[in-house]
Amino acid sequence: MPPPTLLQTEIPMAGTLSFEQLKSQVTEGGVDTVLVCFVDMQGRLMGKRFHAANFVEHSHAETHCCNYLLATDLEMATPDGYASTSWRAGYGDYVMRPDLSTIRPIPWLEGTAMVLCDILDHHTHAPVPHDPRAVLKRQVARLAEMGFDAMMATELEFFLFEKSYDEIRKSGFRDLAPISGYNEDYHILQTTKEEGIMRPLRNHLYAAGIPVENTKGEAETGQEELNIRYAAALDCADHHTIAKHAVKEVAWQQGHAASFLPKWAADKVGSSSHVHQSLWQGAAPAFYDAADALGMSQLMKHYMAGLIAYAPDYTFFLAPYVNSYKRFAKGTFAPTKTVWSVDNRTAGFRLCGYGTKGVRVECRIGGSDLNPYLAQAAMLAAGIKGIEDKLELAPPTKGDVYEDAKAADIPQTLRAATETLRGSSMLRAAMGDDVIDHYTRCAEWEQEEFDRVVTDWEIARGFERA
Ligand code: ADP
Repeated sequence: MPPPTLLQTEIPMAGTLSFEQLKSQVTEGGVDTVLVCFVDMQGRLMGKRFHAANFVEHSHAETHCCNYLLATDLEMATPDGYASTSWRAGYGDYVMRPDLSTIRPIPWLEGTAMVLCDILDHHTHAPVPHDPRAVLKRQVARLAEMGFDAMMATELEFFLFEKSYDEIRKSGFRDLAPISGYNEDYHILQTTKEEGIMRPLRNHLYAAGIPVENTKGEAETGQEELNIRYAAALDCADHHTIAKHAVKEVAWQQGHAASFLPKWAADKVGSSSHVHQSLWQGAAPAFYDAADALGMSQLMKHYMAGLIAYAPDYTFFLAPYVNSYKRFAKGTFAPTKTVWSVDNRTAGFRLCGYGTKGVRVECRIGGSDLNPYLAQAAMLAAGIKGIEDKLELAPPTKGDVYEDAKAADIPQTLRAATETLRGSSMLRAAMGDDVIDHYTRCAEWEQEEFDRVVTDWEIARGFERA
């Protein structure tokens, strides 16, 4: 593998636009709409569609949104218990400040460009600490102070369905036929049949400045994976978020639905988002040491020891919903243990590219529903702590890790992960008490909402026989 260079992320990729280039395209009539977006706690794009003329003349400096958007859930509820905002505080505004380095065309929508925003306090213009982009920037800055850059890649797995979102919703989410009839892992024949969605997806994303590597069939009926070339952490999270959004929009345009729900059927494998991680000093791979048997530097060993030791603390950021925990099942390639292994897909952490400058660790715990900013930030915080405390890395685990009784488990439920998050002094020191209290409330609310529901399963089990 050729040594990767940081230069690739410093040069704007073909597809991204400078503000001046956007202005010219608006003048020439090529762009009439600018999507001004930020990323919410759930990792979704939220924002407004601007007339392009207004954006280039005025709104590129800032626009505003209601501050409940960083204290809500998938249903846009207004839960109590957040210190940052509430009905009592009047749900005021945040400033959305466009990050002009993120302007890109959105080729699957006619005449449209997009820019991502940072969220600032309405009065002070200080960054809002629980804004997912701010959470990640804080850990990237800590690493930069130590002299390192993080290069990350997040894989996107998802299911494609025969029907559209609207048809499926109208069926009460019963009509869930995946787009293929068999496990399509690495299949070329079946994925040819999905090219109506996947080919425009790859090409549109590439033209939007997102360095798509490939797509492939995954290990279930109708399951696909999208791989994007690794990039600096913030770019990686931006790429992931836009790509996930694009998967849904392109599938919708073709009359199909795409779902990132980690586990939509009990008897089917779930969807993950594995995170590949390496640290660099300029163009030098700080995880690589040619003298080590596996090519791992001491720095990498400390980083990995931190990742493993603190996995229970940050599991919520890899598995943020009740459903996320249904994915952690034996024999499904989804890990259940916080150990590492050399190129072994049953452990929580897999060493990849060993013996080369591309040596890296892949965290396999995350589900397809993770927020990539929060997940990366939490793992960087754990890795930094491992480096700071010079934590010792245990030897790798071999064989079927599912059966390794000595290996520690990751939290098995959202309830358990909420408590490890709440009690994490590591994350509190790294991210701030305000941020951890905010996301602990987010986690609690998901559980409270679930606990209010009477499920079909309970009724079928107990209606007659209880
Ligand atoms: P596999 O063959 O296991 O799928 P790949 O070589 O395709 O592995 O890499 C998987 C992901 O890891 C890709 O998204 C790739 O860009 C990323 N990757 C490669 N090298 C590094 C690195 N040094 N740091 C972080 N991610 C990397």
